[in-house]
Amino acid sequence: MVKENGLLLRVDRLKKYYREVRAVDDISFAVPKGVIFTILGPNGAGKTTTLEILEGIRDPDSGEIEIFGMQLKRITRTVKERIGVLLQESNFERYLKVKEVLALFASFFQNPRPTQAVLAQVSLEEKAEAYVKNLSGGQRQRLAIGVTLINDPELIFFDEPTTGLDPQARRNIWEIISSLKESGKTIILTTHYMEEAEKLSDHICIMDHGKIIAAGTPRRLTAELQQETIIEFHLNDADELELQSINNFSSGFAVEEEIVIVKSTSLVQTMDKLLRWSQEKEIPLKNMVVRQPNLEDVFLSLTGRKLRE
Ligand code: ATP
Repeated sequence: MVKENGLLLRVDRLKKYYREVRAVDDISFAVPKGVIFTILGPNGAGKTTTLEILEGIRDPDSGEIEIFGMQLKRITRTVKERIGVLLQESNFERYLKVKEVLALFASFFQNPRPTQAVLAQVSLEEKAEAYVKNLSGGQRQRLAIGVTLINDPELIFFDEPTTGLDPQARRNIWEIISSLKESGKTIILTTHYMEEAEKLSDHICIMDHGKIIAAGTPRRLTAELQQETIIEFHLNDADELELQSINNFSSGFAVEEEIVIVKSTSLVQTMDKLLRWSQEKEIPLKNMVVRQPNLEDVFLSLTGRKLRE
């Protein structure tokens, strides 16, 4: 039963260490009912470990979990009946048909949904008779989502659901996730794609080295940087020494993968001086763009690193 505060899940001071690796290091957060709650962070941040604890795959070293109004040390079978889990990798038997995979997973639950309804939800009706081995990457991932939805879960975990997929397949999965939210489900998503987090999330926790380093709505997270405008351009290796003087007419800069990211609180003046700098130093501002700060910039300003290394 959901408590009156409308929280579906609350995690308090959760820890999981693997010897000296602090995979999850004393994190707390709360997930209201009916939202898409995203844990965003680079590889190794501790996202999967956090999810695996909440899915009942791993036990935490310490911490409290409150889920569906129950206080637990670890996830029980009763909770598992009410959650759906999309793992980072799903390897289905290649010589099973799509409908057989769904029937197999349906048999694990007391009250599974009809496979036909699930097929429709993930747009695989025409593939019901197809073998797993003949599905595209996107179709396979949609089948995995179908399996996740077979028990009509109230809370659904999506661990990096679009990693390795092409843009169209990625958009299809975003649509499925959005429509799940519209139908009242609560979703916990992990991703290292800034765009995915920005597009889908109601609430974001940014995780790094096992800790939550920032949390809020996408808008609130970027708001602190909102006075700043970002100017980006490509750089040739040889130009790097000349960059320091950019500090004189901006609020700082960073270089990431041969892209110079200049922050400015006074765009017209910075642009004016940057153009002059470019002429004087004979450094072309290749592929220059001017944009508003995004979650990637938030991560960069918090850690000095990019999300995707
Ligand atoms: P990814 O996106 O790569 O899955 P992540 O944010 O999900 O990254 P985790 O998989 O939770 O991160 O890993 C967090 C840290 O814990 C990493 O340093 C990882 O190497 C370590 N780790 C995870 N599982 C184990 C394990 N079973 N034994 C030892 N160390 C582990």
